Amino acid sequence: MTTTEVVPKPRVVDTGLLADIKRYGAADVSACFSCGNCTAICPMVTNDGTFPRRLIRYGQVGLKDELLSSKELWLCYHCGQCTVSCPQQADPGEYMAAARRYAIANYDKTRIARMLYTKPALASVLEVLVAAAFASVFYVAHGTRSTSSLAFFSFIPDSVIHWTGVGVMIAALLVVAFGVATMVRGIARQEGVTPRALWGGRAALASAWRALWDAFAVDALAQRRFREDCVTENEPTRWFERRWVVHGAIMWGFLGLLAATILDYAFALTGVRATGAVEPVWYPVRLLGTLAGVAMVWGVSVMLVKRLRHVKPSLALSTQSDWVFLVMLWVIGVSGLLTELALYLPGVPAWGYWMFLFHVSAAMELLVLLPFMKFAHAIYRPVALFFLSLARSARRAPAT
Ligand code: SF4
Ligand code: SF4
Repeated sequence: MTTTEVVPKPRVVDTGLLADIKRYGAADVSACFSCGNCTAICPMVTNDGTFPRRLIRYGQVGLKDELLSSKELWLCYHCGQCTVSCPQQADPGEYMAAARRYAIANYDKTRIARMLYTKPALASVLEVLVAAAFASVFYVAHGTRSTSSLAFFSFIPDSVIHWTGVGVMIAALLVVAFGVATMVRGIARQEGVTPRALWGGRAALASAWRALWDAFAVDALAQRRFREDCVTENEPTRWFERRWVVHGAIMWGFLGLLAATILDYAFALTGVRATGAVEPVWYPVRLLGTLAGVAMVWGVSVMLVKRLRHVKPSLALSTQSDWVFLVMLWVIGVSGLLTELALYLPGVPAWGYWMFLFHVSAAMELLVLLPFMKFAHAIYRPVALFFLSLARSARRAPAT
């Protein structure tokens, strides 16, 4: 990796940093005396042996820019092993989770994420209002309810759903793009990575492609680190209860649902299937949607039960944002499956129409709030892992 001479920025100390991070759910890490137990036990420890202590230190001494531009912040999978080993009960695992929430809020310039994380009452009002706004739009647009078959797209015209979805996706993508740009600028400045380091020559391009593959395919989608490194002593013995399996079911379930929705719409648009036609349950796109929905609902249900039961220290301090995210996924998954069930029941159950309206409204709400919620880690983590992988290949490369 090519780097340029970086003129060190003067360090700015934010004396209120630790207090601010605490508003995002952290325990009091001011008690940390840098003993290193967390570093010794952390499966994600970095070569220089400073993870996660260095990030805790940033919080303690108020180095906000350094914290926000640390790619290592996203290395942690919140396994909680450090928390158990901490002699000061500083709960480093929860500190890392809170620092990531803090980072998401700082990458978001609309300040909506900050409000959702730090003002639970206002966040609840906003979440209800957004859901009600989408439900009102679809209710106002709704047409006739056929009694011969459940014709969802006659009830709510598909053009209304389509254009609402397009608007919501554009808004969400813009927020994500600005957030990622802010994050990348910070990390690149900190690491001295220039555009030339990414595509200045064949070797740079090859290493950038490798880093992209490692970050997005191997780590994010195939969850290699999660599978191999985050196995704790308390990991359930039954494979289907393991953390990475449950996390994978939620992630792949969500992606499967998204893919099924996009494919279904594309097929209807291109005439591959008739708009509004009820396909048999084994129709590939429907089957993909059903299996993905079941996987997501199962994964989210397990996660909710684990959080309710505080099965381990890392799940003892769930914030409102953790609950809202899981509950929204669960509601969308269950309402989607019920809508589908209504299609195959005898007769034409009228509740199917209202379930459909509820499902579409909830899905739109999730899409619009995604960049501000916990879901944002699915975007920021692979970006940080990309820089980590790039730094590793630079260390491996022979000096020139
Ligand atoms: S184990 Fe606790 S006290 Fe020791 S460095 Fe980690 S957070 Fe600090
Ligand atoms: S929660 Fe787990 S991965 Fe995160 S810093 Fe602690 S030991 Fe490391």
